Amino acid sequence: MGKDISIGIESTAHTFGVGIADSEGRLLANVKDSYTTESGGIVPAQAAEHHVKVCSQVVKDALKTAGINPQDIDIVAFSQSPGLGHTLRIGAMAARSLSALWKKPIIGVNHCIAHLEIGNMLTDCTDPVLLYVSGANTQVIAYEGGKYRIFGESLDGGIGNFLDSFARELGLGFPGGPKLYELSLKAKSFIELPYVVKGMDVSFGGILTNLKQKLASGKYSKADLAYSVQETVFAMMLEVSERAMAHCNKEELLLGGGVACNKRLQEMAKNMCGERGSRCCILSNEFNVDNGAMIAWLGLLEYNAGVRMKLEDTDIRPYERTDDVDVTWR
Ligand code: AMP
Ligand code: MG
Repeated sequence: MGKDISIGIESTAHTFGVGIADSEGRLLANVKDSYTTESGGIVPAQAAEHHVKVCSQVVKDALKTAGINPQDIDIVAFSQSPGLGHTLRIGAMAARSLSALWKKPIIGVNHCIAHLEIGNMLTDCTDPVLLYVSGANTQVIAYEGGKYRIFGESLDGGIGNFLDSFARELGLGFPGGPKLYELSLKAKSFIELPYVVKGMDVSFGGILTNLKQKLASGKYSKADLAYSVQETVFAMMLEVSERAMAHCNKEELLLGGGVACNKRLQEMAKNMCGERGSRCCILSNEFNVDNGAMIAWLGLLEYNAGVRMKLEDTDIRPYERTDDVDVTWR
């Protein structure tokens, strides 16, 4: 069997990404253009408008980077779920158009599972627990009983949006995660905050309220608060991840999502894994954040396992859960 080449389109949220991968695991391109705002979070309709504006250029750039022509492509993959309806629709439209224009098969994939599979491909982990921490998503995912299952998650907002909201309160601007981390390095002491783990789930809303109160009291330094919030919520996430590893008998932890770029989270994850005698797999930032390469790669895995989609199967699925997906490629 010759090698196949896949183009993958990512558009679940603020990033419009296009990646190109081949079935030998080479990533030939990974180009993106992200919608940003000065002040608030994502306005879905504006993010969609951004994606419409940049999509053909990002596709062209990806083909150029890979040094290939459309006729070299064997499949068109796109992120079909989960995410913002407004933005998912643009990626799906782009994928359907390219598939029709180039006469290539189309495959829609689950974004969360793509984070896990690109980790399997790029690191030496093969069957990890994924701690997926992004703007909107906060989930602990692992393969068990024939499906990718969610073992723990946030009961309210995502951890990245929570950190960005607090950073905004501190006047750090958006995205706040990296700035919060820089500020945390100047801290002198730890301030106790609510620690909210309920069974296997976490919640951030009450912590944000508590932080706002502490900030308004004027009694605490911003650096101490930045440090303490990271220590607290990362410990919460790693407690749930460790329990998932013990429950599923898995010896690998993989980090994914934009918040996985945080060096302190990486350090704490390595410590936890070290104490268990488990392996901690960390990707470069390019593959932690949303990217087209992971979509191209999962598309290839599914295609090679025989998955085929008709045009009418390509509707977006904004609320799909990982365990709704039939896993045929493992
Ligand atoms: P995503 O939704 O996967 O793009 O992740 C977005 C979240 O990741 C936001 O909360 C960002 O503040 C955070 N983030 C992105 N890059 C970094 C970084 N280098 N360090 C810490 N947090 C980051
Ligand atoms: Mg993501």
